Amino acid sequence: MKSVRIHINGIVQGVGFRPYVYRLAVERGLSGWVENTSQGVIIEAQGREPEVDSFLEALRKNPPPQSLIEKFSVEDIPPQPASGFRIAESRQGQGTTLISPDIALCPDCRNEMLNPNDRRYGYPFINCTNCGPRFSIIRQTPYDRPATTMADFTMCPDCEGEYHDPLNRRFHAQPIACPACGPKVWLCRPGGVVIAEGAAAVHGAARALRDGQILALKGIGGFHLACNAADLEAVAKLRQRKRRPHKPLALMVDSVDTARRLCRLVPEEAAIMDSPQAPIVLVLKQASDLISELIAPGNRYLGLMLPYSPLHRLLFEALARDDPRPWALVMTSGNISDLPIIIDNHQAMDKLGFIADCFLLHDRPIENRNDDSIVFWSGQEPGHFQIMRHSRGYAPNPLTLPLETPPCLAVGGQMKNTFCLAQGQRAYLSQHIGEMESFEAMSFFEEMVEKYQRWFKIEPQAVVHDLHPDYLTTRWAGSQSVAEKIAVPHHFAHLLSVLADNGTCQPAIGVVFDGTGYGLDGKIWGGEFLYHHGAGQISRLGHLEYLPLPGGEAAIRHPWRIALAYGLTLFGPDAVWDGLKVDPEQKELIKKQVKGDLNLVWTSSLGRLYDAVSAALGICTEITFEAQAAMALESAAAGGVSAAYGFQIEEDGPARVVKLRRLWQGLMDDIQNRVPAAVAAAKFQNAVVDFTMAMCDNIKSITQCRTVALSGGVFQNRTLLSELEGRLADRGFRVLVHRQVPANDGGLSLGQVLYYAFKR
Ligand code: ZN
Ligand code: ZN
Ligand code: FE
Repeated sequence: MKSVRIHINGIVQGVGFRPYVYRLAVERGLSGWVENTSQGVIIEAQGREPEVDSFLEALRKNPPPQSLIEKFSVEDIPPQPASGFRIAESRQGQGTTLISPDIALCPDCRNEMLNPNDRRYGYPFINCTNCGPRFSIIRQTPYDRPATTMADFTMCPDCEGEYHDPLNRRFHAQPIACPACGPKVWLCRPGGVVIAEGAAAVHGAARALRDGQILALKGIGGFHLACNAADLEAVAKLRQRKRRPHKPLALMVDSVDTARRLCRLVPEEAAIMDSPQAPIVLVLKQASDLISELIAPGNRYLGLMLPYSPLHRLLFEALARDDPRPWALVMTSGNISDLPIIIDNHQAMDKLGFIADCFLLHDRPIENRNDDSIVFWSGQEPGHFQIMRHSRGYAPNPLTLPLETPPCLAVGGQMKNTFCLAQGQRAYLSQHIGEMESFEAMSFFEEMVEKYQRWFKIEPQAVVHDLHPDYLTTRWAGSQSVAEKIAVPHHFAHLLSVLADNGTCQPAIGVVFDGTGYGLDGKIWGGEFLYHHGAGQISRLGHLEYLPLPGGEAAIRHPWRIALAYGLTLFGPDAVWDGLKVDPEQKELIKKQVKGDLNLVWTSSLGRLYDAVSAALGICTEITFEAQAAMALESAAAGGVSAAYGFQIEEDGPARVVKLRRLWQGLMDDIQNRVPAAVAAAKFQNAVVDFTMAMCDNIKSITQCRTVALSGGVFQNRTLLSELEGRLADRGFRVLVHRQVPANDGGLSLGQVLYYAFKR
């Protein structure tokens, strides 16, 4: 006989852990109990030694699919009186447990939902311990039905029976519901007049989509605006009403097969699309008549996801029933410009009424706003994805820091904001908060900061923020009453973020390429070659040449101004080519500005250089969304071109500066000689790879460091990322890239935490 006590930590609640333990124990004839506590799951089991050993092995090796075991400890205990195996009631107590992210509809629930003989046939809120909403419905911890937005729905006897049956897939599935007792769905007009309810509502919504209407639909973490992606007029109408002329629209497709018809889908991409996280996956688009050309104009990539909630799946079933063909729907965030996504029925009616023709609503409240996550596969390593937006399916999973920190809150940056709350070696990166430029975003930020502190029982003694004095997050940090406030240079945080992301504190050369970040000299950095000596000590060993943004940040919306100012600065007033088709008067104005050094902001940003080159080549001269010009350049660049523009590296004090005169000369010559823009764009990107390699070699010769860490929003450019990863590895460098947090400013707060952990 053997008796053991097992303590398991991690995501072990709301994922069917206890029934799983129960089944394993009963199968092996063990006696004992399993209990949920606020420190995790505790099990006592006893039986014959081989059975106990096989029980332990099964627990370790095949835990329930949605669980995540962080700690697993076993101790031998004295034999207990044997009395079968039972599931003990939850106990409150000290300590913290984790909260599971939202999980996409599982195959079992999907089959039940589509089976006319099942009692949940066609029910849009079906879920079980392996799937369904979690994070988006939780109000308090521990995760228990009264602590969720399901608190107001009283279970019917059937659901109650399943909920209490340890052998049922829905044992303690907190959002358990059925048509008799759970949330309901209805379809209504913008004014609120109800058109249909239940199954008829889903059918009505499908019909509206088929007829070219725009549907506002309440999902898991917020509202979507949907329309038929093949319907040019509908897409144009949506773009016009949402005032979003060019930015790519995400699509939801009925199946992986349909995805394959829209893009060149590799198995890794299909797998992540169909995973429990079910993010939007950016994939290489191919010609197809299934979608209008207005979906992602001038872009090589498409953002695709699968129906991840039962309601989405039912909508596609209804579409297919009336018109069996591959379906793709635009599924874009239900928000106004850059404000947070809408989660509330009344607000949706209020704010989206002039965009949507009808509303598919339900009465299960969304407690925590949670956008769709966005990922791409960079093609280097199987199963390793780049996360561009960290939200549904990922938040609030914890990250493990490479060193311990006292309790702290890092508030992130201004754009694509996330914050990070940390203590010990554990860091919680928030879901995507968004652009910190509105009262609404700020309120959302504050709401989530308060909730994370409460849920994870972390009381920060320090607030860590960006060095930029005018970021809203910096000002918010200033208003907090905590013992310590620490400012972190933007690009240092990027570098530390990718180190933390890889679980390391070691010395590394940091290549940080982004659009905008406040530098230690008060200029705008963004083409940075840093060196992490270890222990958080960072030096700036190189950067791109400083060039002027006329009118400062305002130039960002008009890349042609940047092109003109760069050309003028590098070659003087006479050398400016005629290729740039802009109003001569405005051109004169910029010339005067550059000549007279009036209202110029100097920047070493690679993002801005991409903008300038994109405009100079006529690829994109004006933008309506962030990074548009750079994305257009990446998409326009022809593959297979190996030529590159030249560059020079000059020493300037302790720093090496990448001089861009030769690069710009080559570009102007090509424009003059009518070299196709695709070829010139490729030559530019090759030059970026070349000068990065040269700088890394140069810095290696000084520091003897053979590790290069890549971070910053420019690394969302896949061509650049995979080229550099490949070339650096060939040259014998160990390359660190992001794995769990975004390379863009969405990952900044994690780096800020590590900075603090080192400095304290
Ligand atoms: Zn399920
Ligand atoms: Zn029920
Ligand atoms: Fe940045």
